Amino acid sequence: MRVLTLVLALVLGLPTLPARAEVPRVQTDISPVAALVAQVMGDLGRPGLLLDKGGDEHDMQLRPSQRRDLAAATLLIWVGPELTPGLDQARAAAQVQSLALLDDPRTLRQDYAEGGLNPHAWLDPANAAIWIDLIAACLQALDPDHAATYRANAAAAQARIVTLDAALAAKLAPLKRPFVTYHDAYGYFARHYNLPYRGGLAAGDAAPPGAAQIARLHQDAASGAIRCAFPEAQHDPALIDSLAEGTGLFVGPPLDPVGSMLDPGPDAYDLLLTGLATALLACATADMP
Ligand SMILES: [Zn+2]
Repeated sequence: MRVLTLVLALVLGLPTLPARAEVPRVQTDISPVAALVAQVMGDLGRPGLLLDKGGDEHDMQLRPSQRRDLAAATLLIWVGPELTPGLDQARAAAQVQSLALLDDPRTLRQDYAEGGLNPHAWLDPANAAIWIDLIAACLQALDPDHAATYRANAAAAQARIVTLDAALAAKLAPLKRPFVTYHDAYGYFARHYNLPYRGGLAAGDAAPPGAAQIARLHQDAASGAIRCAFPEAQHDPALIDSLAEGTGLFVGPPLDPVGSMLDPGPDAYDLLLTGLATALLACATADMP
């Protein structure tokens, strides 16, 4: 326990971690992280969620009331500055201690094809399992009085991930047609489930593509090197629609990689991944030559 406390003190950037009798007030960045934290906290409390419904993680900016919530929190649990640079500034200003999940050496990390760390790591359920343990260890260190509850909740959360993972693997098995998405967020999900993912039209930070990239995508769509394209909940589908015009590309339902359209709560992680799998499966079942 002493070693764990020291490790956590390093992770959190704290000189010491005083034992607290009260349940920590936790804030989170995005819905899937909030869901994992909510599962680990169980009936002890509910984490706050800072990304607004329909918000874009890469452009996240906090309102004054959210900055006050963050400053009043015991702990911020978030993916890290690579995903939400706007939140990184607010975190530093609020001087709140934090657990950046992507920074932990146990987290499975992946680079974008064009280079640079891809921060959409929650889309690999193996990372969700790793993060449940990190979250539980952190909460136990801050709130040792409830350590047994955090441990039991984490075990139940792990069992949910195992069930979810098996269901998704079976569901996604028929997806063999190569597809692209609006933004380059799905590398983790595609790697874990061995999907024929050909990347995003927009870059990883959702910045729009240039003319040369669009021309190449048109060529790939026309030649059949990509068969399906998926727009995204927070973004205009015009780019995907123009790509599909005259190329026979199947346009699937909008994806929501950050779960920003879901009601927050402990079920949001399962709902996000299941919804993603259901949407992507439209590429496998679409009636096309
Ligand atoms: Zn993103």
